[in-house]
Amino acid sequence: MSPWIGNIIFILGSLASIAIRMPHDKVSQEARVVESRKGALEKILLFSVMTSMILLPILSFTPALSFASYTPNTMMIVIGALAMGISLWVFHRSHKDLGRNWSVSLEVREDHSLVTDGIYKSIRHPMYTSIFLLAIAQIFLIANWIAGPALFVAFSIMFFSRLKTEEKMMLDTFGTQYERYRKRTKRLIPRVW
Ligand code: SAH
Repeated sequence: MSPWIGNIIFILGSLASIAIRMPHDKVSQEARVVESRKGALEKILLFSVMTSMILLPILSFTPALSFASYTPNTMMIVIGALAMGISLWVFHRSHKDLGRNWSVSLEVREDHSLVTDGIYKSIRHPMYTSIFLLAIAQIFLIANWIAGPALFVAFSIMFFSRLKTEEKMMLDTFGTQYERYRKRTKRLIPRVW
C-alpha cells in the first residue's frame, strides 16, 4: 500500500490536534503562573517530544530518511487510523475538562482548581493517555523505522520523568484533596494502571 495514505491520515490527525489545542493555549496564557516546576531536563524533553512528533515525520516525507522507509500494509493503516481517532477524542475531552488549568508544562495557575470529574474521574492523566495513543498511531501510520517509533520513545521518557514531579506539585498544591483523588484513580488506563 502507498505510504502516502498513512502519511496523509497522520498529517490530518496532527492538524486536528493543533486545532483542538489552540483555543486552550490562548485561555491558559491569560491565567498567571504562580508556581513552575519546569526544570532544564523538562525543557530538553519537551524539545525532543516536539522534534519527534513534527520534524522527524516531516523528514520521513523527504529523501533524508528514505533509507529507513518501508512499505506499509492495510492492517497497519487501519490500526493507525483507529488509534489516531481515539487519541483525538481523548485529547479533546481532556482539554475541555481541564479548561484554564491546562499548561504545556508543569505549572500551577492563579485560581487553579483540581479537576476530578469528566474524563478525570477514573484516570489522572488522560491527556498523556491521548499522547501515547498518538505515538502508537505514528508507529503504524509513518512507515519509517526512525520517524515511526520516535514519539513513543521520546514521550515515554518524558512521561516517566514528569509523572512524579507533576503529582508532587499537585499534592503540594491541593494536599489531602489530591491524596484522596490519587487513591481512587488510575494513572493512564481506567481500572488497569
Ligand atoms: N497530567 C494531566 C494534565 C496534563 S497538562 C493529563 O495528562 O491529563 C499539565 C498541567 O495540568 C500540570 O501543570 C498541572 O498543573 C495540571 N493538572 C494536572 N492534573 C490536574 C488536575 N487533576 N486538575 C487540575 N490541574 C491539573
